[in-house]
Amino acid sequence: MINLEIPKKFKPLASQAHQVATEVFRPISRKYDEAEHSYPKELDMLASLIDGMNEGSDSGAGAAGVRRESNGGDEGNRNGSNLSTVLGIIELCWGDVGLLLSMPRQGLGNSAIASVATEEQLERYGGKWAAMAITEPEAGSDSAAIRTTADVDGDEYVLNGEKIFVTSGDRADLIVVWASLDPSVGRAAIKSFIVERDNPGLKLDRLEHKLGIRASDTANFILQNCRVPKEALLGNPEVDVKQGFGGAMQTFDNTRPLVAAMAVGVARAALDRARELLAEAGVEVEYALPALSQTAAAARFLEMEADFEAARLLTLQAAWMADNGKPNSLQASMAKAKAGRTCVEVALGCVELCGAAGYGEDELLEKWARDAKILDIFEGTQQIQLLIVARQLLGKNSSELR
Ligand SMILES: Cc1cc2nc3c(=O)[nH]c(=O)nc-3n(C[C@H](O)[C@H](O)[C@H](O)COP(=O)(O)OP(=O)(O)OC[C@H]3O[C@@H](n4cnc5c(N)ncnc54)[C@H](O)[C@@H]3O)c2cc1C
Repeated sequence: MINLEIPKKFKPLASQAHQVATEVFRPISRKYDEAEHSYPKELDMLASLIDGMNEGSDSGAGAAGVRRESNGGDEGNRNGSNLSTVLGIIELCWGDVGLLLSMPRQGLGNSAIASVATEEQLERYGGKWAAMAITEPEAGSDSAAIRTTADVDGDEYVLNGEKIFVTSGDRADLIVVWASLDPSVGRAAIKSFIVERDNPGLKLDRLEHKLGIRASDTANFILQNCRVPKEALLGNPEVDVKQGFGGAMQTFDNTRPLVAAMAVGVARAALDRARELLAEAGVEVEYALPALSQTAAAARFLEMEADFEAARLLTLQAAWMADNGKPNSLQASMAKAKAGRTCVEVALGCVELCGAAGYGEDELLEKWARDAKILDIFEGTQQIQLLIVARQLLGKNSSELR
């Protein structure tokens, strides 16, 4: 097995995150899987602790705090907040991915803000919990098809439309909403706007009931004449047809490695538990022997672990590239595709290897197999990641290869 050491300076963070996963997340994992839509109040104190850990350091332990950092390419190797955040997420999701997604101030909206906000916006919205609202009934994978509009009215934008499947939508303080300044222009006019959760124009329609990640709330909203100040637009307000969708899509280069990290964490959890259950059944996995000379169960385990390692290495690479100011769209999509698929295959594979023990509710393996699938869907599905990878490798744009 390849064993890449993590940077020394991040070891304490990874070990603290693992401790939180063991002592806080695991004991309440099943409770909030069963009590869907109830807020895991145990997370409040933990979130404050993480805020404290993140303050004054360039390392992040949760899902927020990633910012594209440029070193101009001449400062050598830099291990920064993207890598540390990914390492923290892997450990926390080893504990419970649904609970990580429910952590105050660690939403994907926070990452979007961190990626593109101006210093004033960071000041204004810092310390708040932000969800991300892109998906609409008629626009999922094809986010350029969104119909929510943002019309200028004096010093404000007026948003109208519908947003579905917003993770943490009911609990967050802010929702980062994608809307079009001018639908006739196409993708270049799509911008993101920060909407306060208590804005009277943002109406909660319903909460979803789901297969997995039940600790995390998933909200649907109607935006009805929802007024936000002009300063709520994230990034450049100009509609630059030449730049197209680039500005808005740049957020994904930072957030896809985070979702890949979630998948890596869930896969690791399933492998660790399966190894224990196999050992209890008398099956030892030997790393010094070829897979073919071991039992079929051990060989299958090694195969899954190799896939896991490939997903992990791609995820670390994509985050490291973001830390070093290197364009990482290709690697971010490769990591998300590999980790999302691996997580589903490993979680189900571990259920299979452990038989009835893996399928029953006495074991978390059953839950992880349900939690895994979303990691292959949101932040761009498996198929969409592969499409992006193919476009990049073949040098084709979105109209040439779709
Ligand atoms: C629990 C949960 C939480 C979510 N959280 C958020 C959130 O916080 N914010 C947010 O904005 N959205 C969120 N989503 C939405 C999620 O990002 C979308 O579900 C996802 O992008 C897919 O869109 P869709 O469901 O409309 O599927 P569709 O786009 O309709 O796709 C259906 C199937 O067709 C495939 N497909 C589509 N286009 C192509 C193509 N060109 N080539 C090959 N295959 C293709 C897809 O891969 C998929 O398998 C969440 C969803 C869920 C279930």
